[in-house]
Amino acid sequence: MSGNIFNIQRFSVQDGPGIRTTLFMKGCPLACPWCSNPESQANEIELGYRDSLCDDCGRCKDKCKVGAISILEKGISIDRDKCNSCLDCLAVCAPTALKVLGESISADRAIAIILKDAKFYQNSNGGVTCSGGEPLMQSEFVAEVFKRCKAAGIHTTIDTTGHASKSALERVLPFTDLVLFDVKLIDNEKHKKVVKFPNTRILQNLKRIKSEGISLIIRVPLIPGLTDSEENIDGIAQFVTEELGGAPINVLPYHRFGTNKYSMLDIPYELDGLAPLAEEQVAAIVNRFESFGLSCEVVV
Ligand code: SF4
Ligand code: SF4
Repeated sequence: MSGNIFNIQRFSVQDGPGIRTTLFMKGCPLACPWCSNPESQANEIELGYRDSLCDDCGRCKDKCKVGAISILEKGISIDRDKCNSCLDCLAVCAPTALKVLGESISADRAIAIILKDAKFYQNSNGGVTCSGGEPLMQSEFVAEVFKRCKAAGIHTTIDTTGHASKSALERVLPFTDLVLFDVKLIDNEKHKKVVKFPNTRILQNLKRIKSEGISLIIRVPLIPGLTDSEENIDGIAQFVTEELGGAPINVLPYHRFGTNKYSMLDIPYELDGLAPLAEEQVAAIVNRFESFGLSCEVVV
C-alpha cells in the first residue's frame, strides 16, 4: 500500500491541535486559483524547473528520450504533454534546476516517520494530519495510515475540500478524530465559476460528517474579491448554524506563499498582484462570524 505525497511536515502546528506530522497528499479535483501548493493538484509525480538555476548546458535535452525538452535562448522549455515523468533528466542536471515534485511513499514508511514523534503528540495533544491536495482522493492509503495510527493511540485529522465520494468518506471516517473542512463559497454558481465544481456534494458531505458526530472545524479561505464578501460570510455562517447546529470556524487569510512554484510547473498564477486583506478587514470578518454565535479563529 503506497500513496503519492508532495511533502511530510514534522512538528507542524497549523494543521490541527498540538504538534503534528502532516502528510501532504498529491491530487486535487478542484482548481482554486489561490492554491499555495500547485504541486498538489496532479496526482502524479512531476518535474519542476527553476530557470534561475539553469546554466544552459543542454544535457537534459540530450537525455530526454521523448523529446520533451527544448533549448531556449535562455534556459529550457518542457513540453508537459510529452513528458512522462521518467525523471531521467534529473540525474544530469548538475545545478539542480530540475527538481522532482512528489514521491511515492509506503504506508509502512509513513508510519515509521510518524512514530518518531509519538512523544511530542502525547505531550501536546497532537497527532497526524493528512492534508493536500485532497487526501480523500487517496482514501485507501489514508485509511490504512489512520487505522495504524489509531492502533498506536495517535490522534488523526483530515484536512479536506469535502469534494469526495461516499465510499472514500466511508473508508476514512471510521479512523478519523477530527475533520478540517474547507468551505469556500456558499453560492453554488459562484463555487462552480471559481473552483470549477458545484458545492452540492461538498455541503452534503459536510452535513454527513456532522451527523456522524465527528469533531469538525470549518475552514474558510479569505480571498479578496472572491470569498470575503458579506454575502458569502453570512451565507456560510447561516449554513453552519442552521444546518450543522454550529461548528468552530477558522479563517485563513490569503497569502502569496508558494506563488513561485507556479512557474516551476508552467502553470499560470491567476491572482498575480492581488493584495492580502488588511488585519482590520480580517478582524471584521471574525466579528461577523462571531455575531452568529460561532467561535472564530484566524489561522495563518
Ligand atoms: S522527466 Fe523524462 S520525459 Fe520528462 S523531460 Fe525529463 S527525461 Fe524527458
Ligand atoms: S540540465 Fe539542468 S542546467 Fe542543464 S539545461 Fe537542463 S535544466 Fe538547465
